[in-house]
Amino acid sequence: MNAVDLTKKLISIPSYVDSSTNEREIAEYVYQYLSKISWLTTVKQNVENNRFNVIAYSSMSPKLLLVGHLDTVQPSANWQTSPTQPIQKNNTIIGLGSSDMKSGLAAILSSLPKKKPATELMILFYVDEEYDFAGMQRFTQEYQDKIQPQLIVSADGDDCAFGYACRGLIEFSAIIKGKSGHAANPDSGINAITNTTTAIKQLTRKIKTYSSPELGASTLNLAYLSGGQNQGFNQQGQLELGRQGNIIPDIAEIIIDIRPANQSLTAKQVVKLLRSELEKNGLKLIQTKIRHDLGAWITKKQDLLKVTRLVNNPKFINPNNRGYVDLQMLWQTFNQIACTTYGPGDPACPHQPNEYVPIKNINQASKFYKLLISSPDTI
Ligand SMILES: [Zn+2]
Repeated sequence: MNAVDLTKKLISIPSYVDSSTNEREIAEYVYQYLSKISWLTTVKQNVENNRFNVIAYSSMSPKLLLVGHLDTVQPSANWQTSPTQPIQKNNTIIGLGSSDMKSGLAAILSSLPKKKPATELMILFYVDEEYDFAGMQRFTQEYQDKIQPQLIVSADGDDCAFGYACRGLIEFSAIIKGKSGHAANPDSGINAITNTTTAIKQLTRKIKTYSSPELGASTLNLAYLSGGQNQGFNQQGQLELGRQGNIIPDIAEIIIDIRPANQSLTAKQVVKLLRSELEKNGLKLIQTKIRHDLGAWITKKQDLLKVTRLVNNPKFINPNNRGYVDLQMLWQTFNQIACTTYGPGDPACPHQPNEYVPIKNINQASKFYKLLISSPDTI
């Protein structure tokens, strides 16, 4: 099947994750597709709850590792068409995951030749990228000592431009304690809500100073804040909050998302900085739960020269405002070897309703992967 038809086929298999749907059906389809290619050995790698990665290889000493994720975000309410019924319109394909990243999967799949190519390669199609990175974590655990690739290319990219860096991702929740008092006398307590926001503003300024030439400054988003009178935890472990106007709130809960641009900014370091800013404002940090602690990825552009030469006038993705790309985990696991993203997605639409991908990009990406696989000198 050509890359455009494959994109449509993959869109028609829902692969978002909720209580009734997951990546199982699309993974089975990809597994069957790869199993028909005689020079590849194709295996399923169990991840969790019947969800599995698909791994195919020509040899267990691959030089080139190609990767893509099988899942999409959940469909939002504002689709004008059925998200899992692909539609071809104005030289684009519309459908959930068209850009992110079923067209990228199609570009890789369609590029695999009938005869074994000169380059030894491994392909990883994995689950859970849009959620908690369970698929990528499972792969790195099992393969970190088994393989030593020289180049890793992910099709999770935009605009047929090369990605070479991204900031990391730190996310955690925290519970912060102040002191209650009578509202009529603000000095009788320490307001956990207003003092927390002051501390977060100061923390944001500190975080900014962790920068790098490639990735600019680190940034902070206060994603959630609630507070009130502390009434203890309920059976689900959630904080119960009183809402009485005449009492100074003595407890607050926050969720913070940070994009580190520099290796030295880790979750541990952020918690240390937060604690110190809270203490300056009379508050105590009493609990933190870290959800993500992922560093930045930087491959130097000159380390990608041989790959970028495969296309005329190569373009690059500006890494400063790019989201976290879990290719970073592979980069870190495999000794910071050259890693890049190259994919057909449209930069305007991932995670948006009415997502589409230009047909021109799909064909261009498919051509690139064909060239990459058949050019052993690029590695
Ligand atoms: Zn993606």
